[in-house]
Amino acid sequence: MKKIAVLGAGIMGAGIAQVAAQAGFEVILRDLQISLVKDGMKTIADNMTKLVESNSLQENQIPGILDRIHGTIDLAELHDVDLVIEAVVENIAVKRQIFAELDNICPQHTILATNTSSLSITEIAASTKRQDKVLGMHFLNPVPFMKLVELVRGMETSDQTVELARNFVDNIGKENVLINRESPGFIVNRILLPYINEAIWLYAEGTDKEAIDQAMILGAGMPQGPLQLADMIGLDNLYNVMLGFYNEFKDPKYRPHTVFSTMVRAGYYGKKTGKGFYNY
Ligand code: NAD
Repeated sequence: MKKIAVLGAGIMGAGIAQVAAQAGFEVILRDLQISLVKDGMKTIADNMTKLVESNSLQENQIPGILDRIHGTIDLAELHDVDLVIEAVVENIAVKRQIFAELDNICPQHTILATNTSSLSITEIAASTKRQDKVLGMHFLNPVPFMKLVELVRGMETSDQTVELARNFVDNIGKENVLINRESPGFIVNRILLPYINEAIWLYAEGTDKEAIDQAMILGAGMPQGPLQLADMIGLDNLYNVMLGFYNEFKDPKYRPHTVFSTMVRAGYYGKKTGKGFYNY
């Protein structure tokens, strides 16, 4: 694997393009408008400046890394890539449409990976004629700093595809875990979100937010409390994922508390809106 493409130059796409280029891969970074591609390139340059400041990267490496990333809006340029990692909006119709187009444009051997957090890999793969070469490759935010990539098999993903994906993850200096049968939330979010949801239930029953966060930091060794974490991730995103679990499993253990829904309706999304469980 030498040349890859990343679709979507947003938070995740920019991070993925950066770590791949840092590891020596040629990367095509594609978004819908050239201004969005440029924004992505700026995010990458800013991230690398931070890495230089923390002595994790040398300044003279930056031009070479940026040179390996080629920005475009033209999907046809993906005609000779070995791997595509899709990181566009979390919308099943959009992803299925893109995978169908990729199936026509990319060579037979190209592996098509999706960075989806919550959609079905199998459903995305079914829009192609190469379901064996489609898998989930779930990076975590912020990509340059998070060690883990979750690899997720769809119904038809082949062993060879998993092996090639594992090699790629090794080559960019990340660790992988394999989810052998796709399941909502994979591993990290499947465990993390019900944990945060439970903290919200406790809060709704009248326990102080500070007490909940302190207890989990001091009593369970967490780096930050669940409600602080919820504010950081964004209550709107968390709420949608919890509803996704609830709808998929039809199990009441995944239901968000009405206090949670009301906060989301009020626009209390956390840090990004200045108000969540805490004020910012
Ligand atoms: P984002 O909104 O920051 O970026 C998405 C980008 O995709 C935008 O720039 C948009 O213009 C572009 N786009 C939309 N349609 C496109 C198309 N047809 N072709 C190319 N580009 C297109 O979103 P994000 O937070 O980077 O999330 C991207 C994906 O990664 C989603 O599937 C999300 O669920 C997943 N994800 C996000 C996080 C996170 O913390 N943000 C973590 C893991 C996975």
